[in-house]
Amino acid sequence: MQLLWELQEIDAGLDVIRDTQESFAPKLDNIKEDVALLRGAEEEYQGELAAKEVERRDLRDKVEQLKGLIAQSKEKIAHIANNKEYFAVLKELEYNQRQLDRLEVELAGLVEEINSIKEQIAENDQEMATKAEEMALEEKAISAKVATLERKIKAGDKKRVTKTKKLDPVFLRRYQRIRKRFKDAVVIAKNGTCLGCNVNVPPQVYIDLLKGQEMMSCPNCQRIMVNRSEEEK
Ligand SMILES: [Zn+2]
Repeated sequence: MQLLWELQEIDAGLDVIRDTQESFAPKLDNIKEDVALLRGAEEEYQGELAAKEVERRDLRDKVEQLKGLIAQSKEKIAHIANNKEYFAVLKELEYNQRQLDRLEVELAGLVEEINSIKEQIAENDQEMATKAEEMALEEKAISAKVATLERKIKAGDKKRVTKTKKLDPVFLRRYQRIRKRFKDAVVIAKNGTCLGCNVNVPPQVYIDLLKGQEMMSCPNCQRIMVNRSEEEK
């Protein structure tokens, strides 16, 4: 039974190592999620920027057009003798000038918006670069840890094989079956009680256990029992 107890210790150690290994994944997943969010934001900003740039081009074209019209009107007005025609052109000139003023204000606002989007993109890029760096560092640290853990697992597995070779295959099979239900497949029995489930075992079973001749299972929880003194050996 001592061998089984030792095997359980190796298995428990291996469980801890494997759990540690698995605990690394969520940390990386979190960073990956952050990066994905930043990428999504980047795409949105770029789309917004492209739309604003189109708007700006249109507005600039309109501004240039108006400037041309105004220049034409000014040119015309200088050569007009007739009053009626003069006022008609002047009216058109003033109208176009007001349009131009309005569009120029609009254009300035648009340029400001474009600059602020560009700033957001720059910020986003900075953040993405930081995250990428963080991820690379984390991956490096994790792969080093994983390598160490894998070495430990290999060593543990080797020890495990040595132990199992010494064990009666019937015992081993029973141990493995119980371990699927209880991590502590092998438990101490003390003063007539199974410490796995804390239920008193029938006296005859306990006496047989103390004799140490065969493998005794707790009638209540089915765990394999070892007696206290045996565990202390
Ligand atoms: Zn029990």
